[in-house]
Amino acid sequence: MDVFSNQRRAKKISVVTGGAGFLGSHLSDRLLEAGHQVIAIDNLLTGNVRNIEHLFGNADFRFIEHDVTNFIYLPGEIDYVFHFASPASPIDYLEFPIPTLKVGALGTHNTLGLAKAKGATYLIASTSEVYGDPLIHPQKEDYWGNVNPIGPRGVYDEAKRFAEAMAMAYHRYHRLDTKIVRIFNTYGPRMRLEDGRVVPAFIGQALANEPLTVFGDGSQTRSFCYVSDLVEGILRLSTSDTHNPVNIGNPTEMSIREFGEAIIKKMKTSSKLEFKPLPIDDPRIRQPDISLARELLDWEPKVDFDTGISQTIDYFRAFIESGQ
Ligand code: UDP
Repeated sequence: MDVFSNQRRAKKISVVTGGAGFLGSHLSDRLLEAGHQVIAIDNLLTGNVRNIEHLFGNADFRFIEHDVTNFIYLPGEIDYVFHFASPASPIDYLEFPIPTLKVGALGTHNTLGLAKAKGATYLIASTSEVYGDPLIHPQKEDYWGNVNPIGPRGVYDEAKRFAEAMAMAYHRYHRLDTKIVRIFNTYGPRMRLEDGRVVPAFIGQALANEPLTVFGDGSQTRSFCYVSDLVEGILRLSTSDTHNPVNIGNPTEMSIREFGEAIIKKMKTSSKLEFKPLPIDDPRIRQPDISLARELLDWEPKVDFDTGISQTIDYFRAFIESGQ
């Protein structure tokens, strides 16, 4: 029995791990739009079926609840494996340090094994966290990073660094067609309101007219990319012939204080900024150098901050009003 019954097929079949998560669900939507059949796998540790419930009536979509740190068995052919499963916010790493390490290590090994068995193209979601607290700015792919392996964020950073090494080993040793995307801060609908990341945190606080909790003095910077831009970059990378890591992110950089002020202005809330201690190993600066993505993928972000943040605010407003 194959996952999809129409095996005289015209459609590509893609597996998306973390398919019920923020990025995985948007990627699944986009792959379906591009005419793929999609098998989303998620153990729902931090993902939620709410993010994919609109796909349950789609004959080209399947959802499998499974923890990819265990062996993955799927019958039939597969063309692409996208490994996007992982807790992805600093408070999630604190709550789930060992699952974070396991999904980046064992989950990567299992998904690479699946891709190898099926002769599929493999794409791993890596992260700007491989650069740690960077000593060069903006960050280019040939920078090796400044990571504390034993700090609280180390479980994510090192798992992703291992995952990159593993993908390259499968590429070099098994000749697997692998791709590595280094994802910078991404935002948009379907982020979890409670996941502790700055975008949902500030929007949630502003909607409740509560103070916006700026960590440290708010001078640390981030560069926020809207999710549809990121997904477009990933799709282009998946069909490219590049195997080395490629940064996908929006180079428009701002300090967290500026971000808080922008949210207050935009949302016309009575909230004020409230300063809290800076978490351990919180990177001081972060901005992608996207020359490589421009050159290899002819990709650059299209959605400006104002448009993207308005759509995200609308999502969270509706989400809170729905009482979920
Ligand atoms: N941050 C903040 N207040 C919050 C949540 C986060 O000031 O309520 C800061 C955090 O310290 C970091 C930045 O916002 O400097 C981005 O944090 P996030 O957790 O979104 O992602 P990171 O880029 O650190 O992985």
